[in-house]
Amino acid sequence: MTTPPSDRMHALDVDTLKLREEVFDYARRRMNYEPAPLDESKTPAELAALVPPTVTETGIGGLTALKLFEEVLAPSCISVDNPGFLSFIPAAPTEAATLFDLVVSASSIYGGSWAEGAGAVYAENEVLQWLAREAGLPDGAGGVFVQGGTLGNLSALVAARHTAKVARERSGEPMPRRWAFACSAEAHSSLKAAARVMDVEIIPVPIGESGKMNGLDVAAAVTEWDGVFAVVATGGTTNFGIVDHLRSIGEIAHEHGAWFHVDGAYGLAGMLAPSSRHLFDGVELADSFIVDPHKWLFAPFDACALVYRDPLLAKAAHTQHAEYLDVLTETGDWNPSDYAYHLSRRPRGLPLWFSLATHGIGAYRDAVESNIQLAHKIAAEIDRRPGFALVRQPELSNVVFTRDGWSAADYARWSTDLLHRDVAFVVPSSHLGQPNTRFSIVNPQTTYEALVQILDTMEND
Ligand SMILES: *Cc1c(COP(=O)(O)O)cnc(C)c1O
Repeated sequence: MTTPPSDRMHALDVDTLKLREEVFDYARRRMNYEPAPLDESKTPAELAALVPPTVTETGIGGLTALKLFEEVLAPSCISVDNPGFLSFIPAAPTEAATLFDLVVSASSIYGGSWAEGAGAVYAENEVLQWLAREAGLPDGAGGVFVQGGTLGNLSALVAARHTAKVARERSGEPMPRRWAFACSAEAHSSLKAAARVMDVEIIPVPIGESGKMNGLDVAAAVTEWDGVFAVVATGGTTNFGIVDHLRSIGEIAHEHGAWFHVDGAYGLAGMLAPSSRHLFDGVELADSFIVDPHKWLFAPFDACALVYRDPLLAKAAHTQHAEYLDVLTETGDWNPSDYAYHLSRRPRGLPLWFSLATHGIGAYRDAVESNIQLAHKIAAEIDRRPGFALVRQPELSNVVFTRDGWSAADYARWSTDLLHRDVAFVVPSSHLGQPNTRFSIVNPQTTYEALVQILDTMEND
């Protein structure tokens, strides 16, 4: 085929082939690090001084742009997969998952419809069905991989409200003055964001010292309310990794005719670990749940698995209709775009699929279990050390602790220095106004010795 003279961009010419090799070489270099340096963020002014204009009328050329990326831009991003990255919730993709992310990019697959992406959707669905089985949901459960937990929570709640609204319409009952869902104060910020977008109320569920919401707490909070369309439990809070009492919450939600959603973006992967499966007892009551492969299922950004007990309810809420889409939506096909607030999508579940197919589910159980065991081991060490205190016993793989007498400024200084010395990325945090710091352990390459070494740096500070 000859290339139209107007198109200089798609031609497979000598320059493009050279660029291809250079890009593959870069990807190889990045993946060969053991580990990649942590690196450090820079300010906009610092970057402006280092990076000449790159988006110009004629372009600067791929080789120049790649060099700039490798030498300036990439080192200005912190390497989330470094085993010393212990802040927020990191990501630790397997080699297989990262490699397959490259394949997905090279494959130009539209993952929104069965008609276009059947093979990819089939493989993604096998992963979603496995997750549904692990959680104990019945056959027929299914869903879709969306960009992240924020979008997963929103999509599930939209399906829940739609279901409640349709039920009211059918029964002839008047609509409530305000729709509302219930969750605890420890629930993730994305739920507040969903409530704002949906223009619904959040019923805050007060919880005791344990930080664990249970069914009685929920029952007390929702009794006075008309229009409670969902109860959201957290399967591993982002800060402490606390798993709410899922069974009693699910039972109360259903007694009130409400949808039971489990936000397990970080923690639900913990159900794979034999030692922790019991914490998730009752997750099988969920009408929907989410879990982020980019958090604790060893896949690269960005992916959230969103699973519904009855996917038809989600489809009724989310399917987009348009004349030019009828050819897709009027078939009985399984179209991933129908199950969330989105349309076009990359088949972002494939990196996890490939890694699972490569290593087997057992390797995942072992990896998650090892993170949990490590969290408990370092927690015991923190508990033992004079001058250190756990803020609470870890449940999954997050360990929150304090150094006696340290102010927020002390943590901040120490944290900056650790990163600067390429030792670790552990940011200051706080709980109930008291400064602290935390280890979020989702990388099987993180060692006990490395964590002890970090504690040692707090001794001599
Ligand atoms: C991280 C997290 C989210 C949000 O997920 P994103 O993928 O960052 O959008 C939601 N809920 C919980 C419990 C989380 O830990």
